[in-house]
Amino acid sequence: MAHTRPELSAPPPLPKGGLRIVALGGLGEIGRNMTVFEHRGKLLVVDCGVLFPEEHQPGVDVILPDFSWIEDRLGDIAAIVLTHGHEDHIGGVPYLLRGRPDIPVVGSRLTLALITAKLKEHRIRPRTLEVAEGRRKTFGPFDCEFVAVNHSIPDGLAVAIRTSAGMVLHTGDFKMDQFPLDDRITDLRAFARLGEEGVDLFLVDSTNSEVPGFTTSERELTPAIETVFRTAPRRVIVSSFASHVHRIQQVLDAAQQHGRKVAFVGRSMVRNMGIASDLGYLNVPPGLVVDMKDLEGLPAHKVALVCTGSQGEPMAALSRMANRDHPIRIGEGDTILLASSLIPGNENAIYRVINGLTRWGANVVHKGNAKVHVSGHASAGELVYCYNIVRPRNVMPVHGEWRHLRANADLAIRTGVDPKRVVIAEDGVVVDLVDGLTTITGKVRAGYVYVDGMNVGGVTEASLKDRRTLAQEGTVTVVALVDADTGKLTEPPDFLARGFSHDTAVFDAVVPLIETALAKAAREGITDHHQLEQIIVRTVSKWAFKTYRRNPLIIPVVIDA
Ligand SMILES: [Zn+2]
Repeated sequence: MAHTRPELSAPPPLPKGGLRIVALGGLGEIGRNMTVFEHRGKLLVVDCGVLFPEEHQPGVDVILPDFSWIEDRLGDIAAIVLTHGHEDHIGGVPYLLRGRPDIPVVGSRLTLALITAKLKEHRIRPRTLEVAEGRRKTFGPFDCEFVAVNHSIPDGLAVAIRTSAGMVLHTGDFKMDQFPLDDRITDLRAFARLGEEGVDLFLVDSTNSEVPGFTTSERELTPAIETVFRTAPRRVIVSSFASHVHRIQQVLDAAQQHGRKVAFVGRSMVRNMGIASDLGYLNVPPGLVVDMKDLEGLPAHKVALVCTGSQGEPMAALSRMANRDHPIRIGEGDTILLASSLIPGNENAIYRVINGLTRWGANVVHKGNAKVHVSGHASAGELVYCYNIVRPRNVMPVHGEWRHLRANADLAIRTGVDPKRVVIAEDGVVVDLVDGLTTITGKVRAGYVYVDGMNVGGVTEASLKDRRTLAQEGTVTVVALVDADTGKLTEPPDFLARGFSHDTAVFDAVVPLIETALAKAAREGITDHHQLEQIIVRTVSKWAFKTYRRNPLIIPVVIDA
């Protein structure tokens, strides 16, 4: 297996006629999926998503792929192909289009509707090109064919990219539900046909590669959802991803069957379900869905609400209901249905919400106590089928953390792919397909780019370290008036502390230490403010640690007296 070596540096020029593949996100992480293909001087981007921050990244809204490798080459991008409408595949598009708004954005009908709505919020009107399964379309030197795949959002596409260097098949996110709600199954006949023609490189979704067997069908959730709607004594409040059209279809069907009216709650839920029903992806019987205010006169057992917040996001409707910070007051007899996954890292937040709702008397049904969720990704059994059907010459697992990529690589090898032709790359690793063989040839920058409010890229690892220190240790500001000529203190320094101690008297003990340190500096002729500030930081840090075993963020301010 070809592995990423840590000593990789900038790649040599791509041999003429070769195909270069660089993932700027999605390898070694779940999220911000983005793969860039380079061929004959042109670039093709497949997906451009965001990653959601974890608790150790406070204040960060989303994390983008690092575009710096292609920043100077935006003019060479022939198109952005979007495999489906999930945030981790489309969320970064507005930021890429800021650099060049007229890059053609290619995707299926639903995917384009979702990205267009998102771009409208960023005041960008994209140049879109709608494609569907079976269509073939050329963008510069990239001849793309689109293949239907089944996933946890409708209208997903895999893309086969034919170039003079060979053919790449990229699955996007997919699973192989044989009985999906829209009867649109992953087109294995097309996979087989492309395999017959010869797939030189197969990029395969790794998310569930560690899960043995097969992902169960979405339809198998029907009994559990139906039971909730049949037996709930009062309101039913469903929380799900705002993009999971088929899950919400199941909820609407159950509501219709049991005579409940439904209202959508939350901006993204209302917007996405509007788009999905306008385009015919969501079938809404007339009169079933009403406005929130129209539910008021109805008895509680005739009411259902569908909202976001299934991951415990603090600002989403469900968390706010749990905190009694929402017009919908949860009470005895209400039933909450969390029809969603439990994304690793969100567990604490979700259980906090479940506990909050339970405390107000609600009955919470979730994947831990009922069969109300199935994954959107192919398990190991399905992946093995794909390898055997496609018989690829080279394989590169995508979309997953290291353990997922590794498990997926092992599956490929078990089906007979030559281990030397299985590449495990991480973000930024350069893979070249030349003469039918893939090799790792270098590495480009692919770090995290943090979005915080309107600020893109301004927040660095150092600022996050400061934020963590502020949160955990507090801050101490030291204001020192010094004589400009001698560097000596003209009066005792002032202290301003937050999250450290409310009693400023504690700092009396450090004053003599600062005086001594600055006097020593004065004797050595140090008058430079920056140097004096560093002396104050060192002195106060040492004191705080020795005395209190604390490491507050020290902010020194040296002013000429
Ligand atoms: Zn997805």
